[in-house]
Amino acid sequence: MKAITTTILACLLAATVQAQTPAGRGRGNQEPGPTITVRGHTFTQLSLFQRNVGGPDDMTTPFPPHKVIGNIYYVGTRSLAVFLLVTPQGHILINSTYERNVPGIQKAVEQLGFKFTDIKILLGSHAHGDHMEGDALVKDLTRAQVMAMEQDIPALERMRPGGKTHPIDRVLHDRDTVTLGGTTLVAHLTPGHTAGNTTWTLQAQEGGRSYNVVILGGMGVTANAPLVAAAGPTQLAKDYIASFAFLRSLPCDVPLGSHTSMYNMADKYARIGKGPNPYIDPEGYLEELDAREKVFKIRMAEQGTKELGIKK
Ligand SMILES: [Zn+2]
Repeated sequence: MKAITTTILACLLAATVQAQTPAGRGRGNQEPGPTITVRGHTFTQLSLFQRNVGGPDDMTTPFPPHKVIGNIYYVGTRSLAVFLLVTPQGHILINSTYERNVPGIQKAVEQLGFKFTDIKILLGSHAHGDHMEGDALVKDLTRAQVMAMEQDIPALERMRPGGKTHPIDRVLHDRDTVTLGGTTLVAHLTPGHTAGNTTWTLQAQEGGRSYNVVILGGMGVTANAPLVAAAGPTQLAKDYIASFAFLRSLPCDVPLGSHTSMYNMADKYARIGKGPNPYIDPEGYLEELDAREKVFKIRMAEQGTKELGIKK
């Protein structure tokens, strides 16, 4: 058993040879950690984490609402992504974020000329407060049907801002579809970051063409996620591995995500109207997966080294 484990870990270590831990640095959460280079861009684990979370202001400051592609509009903050899908039979909102952001989301929807009360369905990326804490308030204001992935329900039920019960009107399972006014989304269970982490796919029509849109849930790996045990990779690690493999199999023209940095929204927004739609970025999708998967492999290798007592 030990030999098999060692082989697995050796593979993982080999897969991360490009990762170099800067001399004299620890492995704490606030340390930059090893640097990784993906398609010419260099990140540290800390910079990837900070890219996602941004500063406190980024999580609450509204970003200018705008059209992304087809019937998909952006109505979130500088770092926490919220999407409005507009249909002739009402709208779908993806991610409520923190409850305190809901008034800003409502204002963004109205600035685009739509009615907040026309939101009929509320979906989410995964059961973390920065993406779904505001569900109860959105439901109060719109009467929308709240739908969430089965495996995230226990965590959502523990999410009770101001003592409110988290609304759940429909429990979703892997590959369930959600349809409203001619728009159909597919819910893909991509566990790891949370048990019910959900990646949404849909088609967007623009300029007589149809584009594959992928809205990533969360693919980050926290420093203390238990990935390796004495017997080898944990179920959590296997979940991540399967989720990355699945995400790589998805056709993607337009990558989006639960954090705006996952698809470089600020850069793309600045390029709107100056050429082809900047949100069409298949390479960007692979770059994001490469970066996240490298961090995952580094974490695996770190924990495996510790678990087996291997001295570097
Ligand atoms: Zn999260």
